[in-house]
Amino acid sequence: MLRHRVVAAMREFFDAEGFVDVETPVLTRSTPEGARDFLVPSSQQQGSFYALPQSPQLFKQLLMVAGFERYYQIARCFRDEATRADRQAEFTQLDVEMSFVTVDDVIEVNERLLAHVFDRVGGPRVPAPMERMGFEEAMDRFGTDRPDLRFGIELVELGEELAQTEFKVFRSVLESGGAIRGLNAGRRELPRSELDGLISRAQELGAKGLVWAFREGDGWRSPTAKFLTESELAGLNRRLGAEQGDLLLLVADQRPVANAVLGQLRLELGERFGLIDEDEDRLVWIVDWPMMEWNEDERRWDAMHHPFTAPAGEFDPENPGAARAQAYDVVWNGQELGGGSIRINRADVQEQVFAALGIDAETARARFGFLLEALRYGAPPHGGIAYGVDRIVQRLCGADSIRDVIAFPKTASGFDLLTGAPAPVDELQLRELGIAIHKHKLAGH
Ligand code: ASP
Repeated sequence: MLRHRVVAAMREFFDAEGFVDVETPVLTRSTPEGARDFLVPSSQQQGSFYALPQSPQLFKQLLMVAGFERYYQIARCFRDEATRADRQAEFTQLDVEMSFVTVDDVIEVNERLLAHVFDRVGGPRVPAPMERMGFEEAMDRFGTDRPDLRFGIELVELGEELAQTEFKVFRSVLESGGAIRGLNAGRRELPRSELDGLISRAQELGAKGLVWAFREGDGWRSPTAKFLTESELAGLNRRLGAEQGDLLLLVADQRPVANAVLGQLRLELGERFGLIDEDEDRLVWIVDWPMMEWNEDERRWDAMHHPFTAPAGEFDPENPGAARAQAYDVVWNGQELGGGSIRINRADVQEQVFAALGIDAETARARFGFLLEALRYGAPPHGGIAYGVDRIVQRLCGADSIRDVIAFPKTASGFDLLTGAPAPVDELQLRELGIAIHKHKLAGH
């Protein structure tokens, strides 16, 4: 019932604002949002497949080129990835796009949308304007791009204090370009078993180790204290704002690892020590994203949002890592509700960005020719956003999983226990499709 009211309020808002609801195809070509596609074989064209949309991204952009200045849709999207508590392979987006807009315009409309919906269904109060935080600041202070701002325990950079350290573990991390980061969890008494538990948890999260310490006098009570000089300990205490008895946790690792591990420990400690006021709500826009992130495994650049996101200013193909994106995410109490961007509206820039992502001209033409062509017609500046409807409803009713707010949900492994899908099909059906089945085990399945 709540879900019905949320969707009704969304429609009410967009209708009043002159947005047009357009349905886009479900049998289509791949839209790269970073997941694996669900494929649908065609009997008319044996050996060819439709992909189910990971989002209506390219269709909504084409609608802008066609002259619909305001579009929205409650769209079903499909991503073939391992299901988690907050993800299902099939999910619902509130999808929005507008022409002749800047980041500020999109944010302004969306603040009013959220205020309207939350007002109708008893959600949090939405401040106007909402708080904004740059991506770098969020990573620096909270170790994540979806910070829960309801409590402190912020991450602190400790490399400077340890620049001259003789402690091998720290020195080798710093020499290899890594970071030493830490947090002050406040004055706590924890038995050794729980401290050991924190170390295992940090390792589970991907760190090689975790340094724990309690401030004692001017130094530390910690197995690591003996490896550090008095002045290093004093410097660390100063940086961490450590008072007598405060529990300090440090991770020395590559920066993304240190951030991810401490960011997650911060959340778990916040809960463990009861620091989160459940009656408080913090909504924040995360803005000013990098355009691309380096994928070390594949040795190439990946789009941080998706390949159609516009750069802020000129795009320098020689230096993709430095490009900033006109992208934004809205985060509520540590959960991402939605995200979007201003789009590239020039074919030449889109081609440069494809090239930087390792999509060569021929592949770009084959997969995205229709978009590149449309952009040549004089595409208006445009941008938009999409929200996870399931996630919003889940959060509004405090459910643990989005399964609790989806009618006929699937299990974590993607099974529909009610109907038994997915299920084998008849030999005849396969023959019509020209398909033969080879058993083949996929990594991660
Ligand atoms: N298509 C994007 C997504 O699904 C949202 C957007 O950029 O509007 O995340």
